[in-house]
Amino acid sequence: MTGRAARIARPARWEADVVIHSAPLVLPVSAPPVHDGALVVRRGRIVALGPRAGILASWPEREETRWDGVIVAGLVNAHTHLQYTHMAEVGQRTHASFEEWSTAFDEVYFGTPIDWAASALDGARQALRSGTTSAADVVTDLPAAGALRAAGLGGLPYLETLGDNDASWAGSGRERFAAMLDAAEVPMGISPHAPYTLDTGTLRDVTALARSRGARLHIHLAEGEHEREYTVSGTGPLALMVRELGFDFAVLREGGTGLGPTAFLDELGVLGPRCHVAHGVHLDADDRALLRARGTVVALCPRSNRTVGTRGPDVAALLTEGNPIAVGTDSLSSSPSLDLLEDVAALRDLAVRQGYRAADLDRRLVEAATLGGARALGVAGGLAPGGPADFAVFDVSPGARPYRTLIEEGPGRCVATVVAGEMMWDQRTAAAVRC
Ligand SMILES: [Zn+2]
Repeated sequence: MTGRAARIARPARWEADVVIHSAPLVLPVSAPPVHDGALVVRRGRIVALGPRAGILASWPEREETRWDGVIVAGLVNAHTHLQYTHMAEVGQRTHASFEEWSTAFDEVYFGTPIDWAASALDGARQALRSGTTSAADVVTDLPAAGALRAAGLGGLPYLETLGDNDASWAGSGRERFAAMLDAAEVPMGISPHAPYTLDTGTLRDVTALARSRGARLHIHLAEGEHEREYTVSGTGPLALMVRELGFDFAVLREGGTGLGPTAFLDELGVLGPRCHVAHGVHLDADDRALLRARGTVVALCPRSNRTVGTRGPDVAALLTEGNPIAVGTDSLSSSPSLDLLEDVAALRDLAVRQGYRAADLDRRLVEAATLGGARALGVAGGLAPGGPADFAVFDVSPGARPYRTLIEEGPGRCVATVVAGEMMWDQRTAAAVRC
C-alpha cells in the first residue's frame, strides 16, 4: 500500500494531529536502540517507533522535527522535594554528618520565609530543562503541590507528614493530614517522612490511611549511618537529635525495637510494590533481600548523600542481587542540581569503585533512571507504541556505546523535553515554551 493510499484510508483527524520526531539514534530504553530512528506522536501518545525510512514512508508529508543527537525515553526523578529549590544555600555547603545537615536545613526552613509555590515551580522547570519528564515530588507545604502540573511535568506529588507522636496523631494530626489531602487540587501520594520522625503507631496508621485512599507511599529509608542504631536500640546521635527536637516516640521510650530500619518498616506494613523508598544507603544483604521480596523500589540519590556527609549506596550489590532501583536528585537543599543524569554518572563511578564489572552497567543505570523511576510511580516507562510520548533530546553523538555516551556527556546537554507529546523545553526557542 502506498503512503497516499494509506492516508486516504484513514479518517482525516488521524492525519491532522500527527507529528514525527527523528534523530540519528532513538533510545527507547524499554527496547533496543534504533539507529536513524523516528517516532510518531499523536495526542500525547506514541503511535509508532522504528527506523526513520519506514516511518516516513508510512506517514508521508507529516511534519517532521529532525533532531541532532539522541532521543531518549523521559527521565524519571524518583525522589525530589521541588519546594526546597530556593534553599540551595544549604545544599551548596558540605556537611560533616546527616545530623549536622539536618540542623542546617531546619535553620533555613524555619528561619527564612520562602514562597513554596514559586520555589517548587522553579525546581520543576529546572528538572524539565535537564530531560526529566516525571518526578516523585515530596511536598511538605501544600502550596507546593501544584508545581508538577503547573510546569507541565508528569509524576506524582506526595504529601509529607512528620513530627507526630501517637497521641498527637490520634488527637488532631490524622484529621488535619486527611483534610490537607482532601484540599489538594491534584491527586497525591503519601510520604511518612522517615522511620525516626514519626511514632510507631503513627507510621502504621499513615500506611493504613494510604491503603484506604488507594494512595502510593514514599519514605526516606537508611539515609544516615545512625538510623540503624536508632531503630535497634533507640540510642546514638540520631536518637539524641530526635530527643532534642522534643519528640517522645515509643522507639526512644522503649529502648528501640531490636529491628533495623528496613525490618521495622516491614513489620509496620509500610513496604510493598506500592511503596518506594529514598536513599537506601545503609542496607545490608538481609535488608536488600527484604526489599526485593516486597517489590519495593529504592531511589538512589548519590550526590545528596555526599552533601550530607554520608557514603554512597552499595549500587554494585543492588545491581548484582537484582533489587529494583531508581534514581533521584533529592532537592537543592542537599544537591548541587536537579540534573538526574549527574546522579546516574555518580552511580556509575560508585559501581565501578565497588567492583561492578559486568558489561551491562551503563544500560542498567539508564534503565534505573527511566524504567525504574516509572515503576516507583506505578506507571509504564520507556518509549513504546501506545505509551505516553515522554522523551528528551540530548545533544551528544550516538557513538558505539550510546548508554555510556549519554551518562558521560548527557549532563547539561538536554536540548528539548517533550511531555505527553507537548514540547515543554526547547533550547532553540526557549522563550516560546513553558520553561
Ligand atoms: Zn529527601
